[in-house]
Amino acid sequence: MKNPAASLFSASLGAGLLIILFSCTGTPTPRLKEGNKTPPKLSSEALLLNGKEPIIRVSLFQAAPSGKIRLSSVGSAQVTTLAGDLIMEMPSIAESAVLSSTTGFAIEGYPEFEVDQVILIPQNDADLTVNGIRYHGRLHLSHSPDGLISAVNFVPLDTYLGGVLGSEVILSWPVASLQANAIASRSYALYQMLQRQDEPADVVSDTRDQVYRGMERESESARAIVQQTHGVVLHYNGKPFPAYFSSSCGGHTTDASTGLDRAGWAPLSPVKCGFCDESRYFRWNFAVQKGEIAALLSRSGHSVGVIQDIRPVGRGVDGRARTVQIEHSKGQLSLKATEFRHIMGTGKLRSTSFDTKDSGDELVFSGNGWGHGVGLCQWGTKGMASAGYTAEFILNHYYPGAKLAEIY
Ligand SMILES: [Zn+2]
Repeated sequence: MKNPAASLFSASLGAGLLIILFSCTGTPTPRLKEGNKTPPKLSSEALLLNGKEPIIRVSLFQAAPSGKIRLSSVGSAQVTTLAGDLIMEMPSIAESAVLSSTTGFAIEGYPEFEVDQVILIPQNDADLTVNGIRYHGRLHLSHSPDGLISAVNFVPLDTYLGGVLGSEVILSWPVASLQANAIASRSYALYQMLQRQDEPADVVSDTRDQVYRGMERESESARAIVQQTHGVVLHYNGKPFPAYFSSSCGGHTTDASTGLDRAGWAPLSPVKCGFCDESRYFRWNFAVQKGEIAALLSRSGHSVGVIQDIRPVGRGVDGRARTVQIEHSKGQLSLKATEFRHIMGTGKLRSTSFDTKDSGDELVFSGNGWGHGVGLCQWGTKGMASAGYTAEFILNHYYPGAKLAEIY
């Protein structure tokens, strides 16, 4: 731990962190002796050399039209090529649009770049403002032949996590809960960095990955939690895995194939939670007109008649439906429960753990929890930390079989 005073681990882990080698084979190195702070040697994976904190690439805009991206910087900034050759120095950037055409792109008021990708580097660790949000780090801008522009924030992983934590959790929660969330977020991000090395960015800045609004949600307390867990990630048999999390599981988590239609990892096996009943969506009801359901289904390409009944099918111990059976005046429709939830709206049908009740023109959905229910239950971490459990214990509970390692 970089900050022993704020150690999050119980004595068992503090006795010696398992430092792993993220090699192609995933073979763990032997446990290092206590006090050995030699950085772990990390594979040929280019992002993670020499145990240094990696830089994550966060996509802010993908294929935006000319003028949509607006930049400003109070301090000076350099614009370079990808190879680092200086294109121009800017004393500061008054709010300016990034303009493009089919021949090239430019920052408003400046000459067109002669390359299709540039890096903006604020000097003296200053920040850049993109569409009203301030960001640490650098900004990669690229231009496609059809005149569209993409913007990617290059930022140290823990700096990114400081912004994520402020968006993803409630910072007044107990420290162990926040530490568990920070480690899960770092582990998720690291996994995506390794998976997406050949893509233009590692993560997007919304709920498709983790919500990141630059410095807007960053705070002293978020930074402190990230620092206490600096470089600590989850792994399973030496390999990083996508440490998914959701707001509240409603009593029982589910596996990745049920919750997310993704291949399973052992640490993403369902577990009983029992700690998230403080969430306001631990139990919920949602009434909706049958006609509206039919309209939503039609809009999604499923032509149906008058809705007669909707039933969740295949609810396992996790309470989640695998499929949803829809009876209507023209026949029957069977949909994957996750697809049905997305059609209804994930902020309304808050999970696939639900039952239905006919109420005339309306159908009432009664359900448990909010989110896909895979991996860590965020409200559950609050409940467990309030009951006195450590971050390590909480993570072991929600990711069975996973272990912690300090990789930078
Ligand atoms: Zn839960």
